[in-house]
Amino acid sequence: LVKGLEALRDLPCETTDNHRVSLLVNTGLMTDVVRSLSHGAEGIGLYRTEVPFMIKDRFPSEHEQREYYREQLEAFAPNPVTMRTLDIGGDKALTYFPIQEENPFLGWRGIRVTLDHPEIFLVQVRAMLKASEGLNNLQIMLPMISNISEVEESLHLIYRVYHEVREEGFNIHMPKVGVMVEIPAAVYQIRELADRVDFLSVGSNDLTQYLLAVDRNNPRVAQLYHSYHPAVLQALVRVAQDAHAVGKPVGICGELAGDPGGALLLMAMGYDSLSMNAASLPKVKSVIRSVSREWAVQLLEDVLLLDSPHVIKSCVDLALRNAG
Ligand code: PEP
Ligand code: MG
Repeated sequence: LVKGLEALRDLPCETTDNHRVSLLVNTGLMTDVVRSLSHGAEGIGLYRTEVPFMIKDRFPSEHEQREYYREQLEAFAPNPVTMRTLDIGGDKALTYFPIQEENPFLGWRGIRVTLDHPEIFLVQVRAMLKASEGLNNLQIMLPMISNISEVEESLHLIYRVYHEVREEGFNIHMPKVGVMVEIPAAVYQIRELADRVDFLSVGSNDLTQYLLAVDRNNPRVAQLYHSYHPAVLQALVRVAQDAHAVGKPVGICGELAGDPGGALLLMAMGYDSLSMNAASLPKVKSVIRSVSREWAVQLLEDVLLLDSPHVIKSCVDLALRNAG
């Protein structure tokens, strides 16, 4: 098995008819990075910066953050490392910064918190930029975007830090900046978002939760949480089409990307990159390498005509089995 994995690691992720997809990883701690490299990841599609914040009992200093970020950037250089700015609130709590709300998933989360507390955002971006000196592989991604103004405000802060850090003498480049598409409103503003940023990345975990109004962590309604729901698939198709219509790359970093059937559908939709937990990467790569894009597009067209998530799932599972 290890031999098989190693052989697969160095092969490109491409279909039998030569359609290429980048396979990236989601990371939080340094242990994730080590495994990702041995599995042949082509970069980090989502570094959840809240993870190092969650294991501390106070906000990490700029210096501490810079060290965490440098490790991730160095491990993958020259490949891209996409760092998401702090995404707390909802299900992600910091003991030293409690947020008490009746409806945490509809409340103060992600970019909303950090734009209300620009000092947190500025320190984080400063640490990222300084950490990127000499490597030039940093990308910054903004979570929970529901308004264009949030993108503009964030970009303004990032430019400000960029100029300050350069003036301090750091030899850095302006990083690519992207947004997460994980709130239904963003699905309908892809062009407006894409005009302002370098890339888009779908957070299918939250997008599914918000499209279906199903708490992603509530076991009582877990059977209603379905990423193969026709509405979710239609939204995903639309995002890929609209992003490409304006020439911007679009990836996905939710769990669906690491699900072999989901990965096939996303590849057929035209997603440029799939970012997943390292453990899922070899399986996804071997599935994509075993089919043609043409075949996957036909499968996608067939399942888009169906109206039940369960039937769609069975259909995709059957197709996967037939593909071997
Ligand atoms: C998502 O929402 O799909 C996502 C990747 O972000 P997180 O799971 O960290 O909310
Ligand atoms: Mg999310």
